[in-house]
Amino acid sequence: MAKPKVAFYWCASCGGCEEAVVDLAEGILKVVEAVDIVFWPVALDFKRSDVEAMADGEIAVAFINGAIRNSEQEAMAKLLRKKAGIVIAYGACAYEGGIPGLANLTDKETILQYVYHDSPSTAGGNGTRPQPHLKVPEGELELPEFYESVKTLDQVIDVDYYVPGCPPTAKITLQAIEAILAGKLPEKGAVLAGDRALCYECDLNSTKPEKLLVTDLKRPHQVLIDREKCLLAQGILCLGPVTRGGCEALCVKGGMPCSGCFGPLDRVRDFGGKALSAVASIVDSGDEKVITKVFESVPDPAGTFYRYSVPASLLTGKRKAA
Ligand code: SF4
Ligand code: SF4
Repeated sequence: MAKPKVAFYWCASCGGCEEAVVDLAEGILKVVEAVDIVFWPVALDFKRSDVEAMADGEIAVAFINGAIRNSEQEAMAKLLRKKAGIVIAYGACAYEGGIPGLANLTDKETILQYVYHDSPSTAGGNGTRPQPHLKVPEGELELPEFYESVKTLDQVIDVDYYVPGCPPTAKITLQAIEAILAGKLPEKGAVLAGDRALCYECDLNSTKPEKLLVTDLKRPHQVLIDREKCLLAQGILCLGPVTRGGCEALCVKGGMPCSGCFGPLDRVRDFGGKALSAVASIVDSGDEKVITKVFESVPDPAGTFYRYSVPASLLTGKRKAA
């Protein structure tokens, strides 16, 4: 019997999600045994034309990682949507915009101005900027168009399921693949990870006080961390209480607070808003001045509370002045 065909593709991505697939280690042998990988630009020499030549729906599952920053990524996402029965937004960037989505805190013109004119490494350049179309004697050259803002995958195509994480762990990747192969998938639109906060699977949860209150918020480099005690109870801004579990608290095990890469729980629409409100609720003061001072100690609030989710947030990014 023919094996189900699987595709992997990357859009605006750091490559970490591709590494996550390689991190399956010997687990990948099980995958390769069960499926036929028909497209994976980072590892195999298939071309876009190979995908174009396939029948619609011929690919069983397409795993797409990375956000959508340019026209080529959108075109590839649309092509894979047409050719695949199931599309998975794989990793925080495809799911919520991720780290590339932080670019929505500025705008296209500011980015191009800095990169091609003002940055120290381009000093002395001739001011050339990439052009989407260029006529040469042989014909017209085309480059992908750099969009005004970064989009999540589901802002350009219909997505069936989401695998969270930056990057997703090998364990939840394998669980997702196994669920697909066994045909045991939840309702369309589900995030393929549990719906419990990270704290429930963190080894330090038993040291988190019932009523947690903080008087200031610190970053890991500012204190000597007690590795046996809940980080948030030490005033270190850990987003475990509002972040979906599934990673087994890998960062906390490594002495770093959770930064929220698995995204929100099922009923939460805006991760950053939820995180902000959760942290505000544990500040041990009713005095506005004290509360303001506590939050002023967070140097980059957008990058802290919305690190992975600016495009997916209710704000979606910087608003143009009216
Ligand atoms: S989710 Fe994280 S690891 Fe994956 S592409 Fe985005 S930044 Fe890289
Ligand atoms: S707040 Fe952070 S350190 Fe504390 S229990 Fe939750 S995940 Fe663990």
